[in-house]
Amino acid sequence: MDHFSKLTYLMIETNSACNLDCRFCNRSELVAKGWREPKILALEEFQKSLAVFKDCPLDTIKIEGISEPFLHPQFDLMAAEVRNCFPNAFVIISTNLIYNLQKTAFLKTLEYVDMVYLSADGVGEKFEWSREGADWGKFIKSLDDICQNVSPEVRRKKLHLNFTCTEHNYQCLPELYKIKEERDLASVRINLAQNWSEDQENGHHFEEELLELLSAHGEDVKGVPSWQYSECFWPFQGLVVDVFGNMRQCIINTSQQPLGNIFTDDPRKIYNESQHYREVRKQLKNGCAAKSCRNCDYKHLGDYLVKILGERGEKNHPRIFDNRTEDE
Ligand code: SF4
Repeated sequence: MDHFSKLTYLMIETNSACNLDCRFCNRSELVAKGWREPKILALEEFQKSLAVFKDCPLDTIKIEGISEPFLHPQFDLMAAEVRNCFPNAFVIISTNLIYNLQKTAFLKTLEYVDMVYLSADGVGEKFEWSREGADWGKFIKSLDDICQNVSPEVRRKKLHLNFTCTEHNYQCLPELYKIKEERDLASVRINLAQNWSEDQENGHHFEEELLELLSAHGEDVKGVPSWQYSECFWPFQGLVVDVFGNMRQCIINTSQQPLGNIFTDDPRKIYNESQHYREVRKQLKNGCAAKSCRNCDYKHLGDYLVKILGERGEKNHPRIFDNRTEDE
């Protein structure tokens, strides 16, 4: 079966660096492996990457990876290229706002994207504690710059505060809602903190008090309650490509050895025929975890999400996908 021709979700990266060292991000592990060497894609390289997917029915493209996109000096050109190649796709980006907005391509990028996650993992000292290198004053200054330069209509439509919730920062949530209201932002998106390393379990403790607070904001909590392995769309219709062209099976497992490279291999062949993909699909289709999925936080967090949202949150459905496999 030609799964590659059914790809609907692509996560693709334009540069490798980040200006922060967040406490719960596994980027430093990837740096230690030598997987985050400095690289900024030239427009021609990015065009070459996107061309690989020109015949795929992509409906969602996240221009993101384990990096800060606005460290790319021409990120607006990258976003424009995505919009040009895939005019009907929903385009998402994520940024930490710890920079001088006027010296980046942030404002010029907005017209090409549909949704911007502004990473706000806490407020004040909690924010700075969880995001080493971050300065809360700088974050607020960037929000104020946004208010001065972006219309309330665009802010309410595209700009979302993205809150990764842990046992250390959940008390910051009311303050984040206040900031959202005061600045006419679209929403607060709440995610329980995940662990993106293949060989590690999620070490966070989500106690009752935290879960109750999130219940009160259930409409903004992301994730699927009691998620099952058979509901994973990634190896069937999704793909992650890093700035070096390396392919990985999903966003949840970022420490995985690359499965291939879109520049030097035949990505269609790898996606459709490699032993790895065949095995992962077979296991998932049977509701089981392949080795690379055993610590999947979609699965692990599913029980907490039941406590927050009930057995099946009204809005939080799994992505619909075609899970027929070659062994059918
Ligand atoms: S780790 Fe989780 S999200 Fe990734 S492919 Fe496996 S089951 Fe799907």
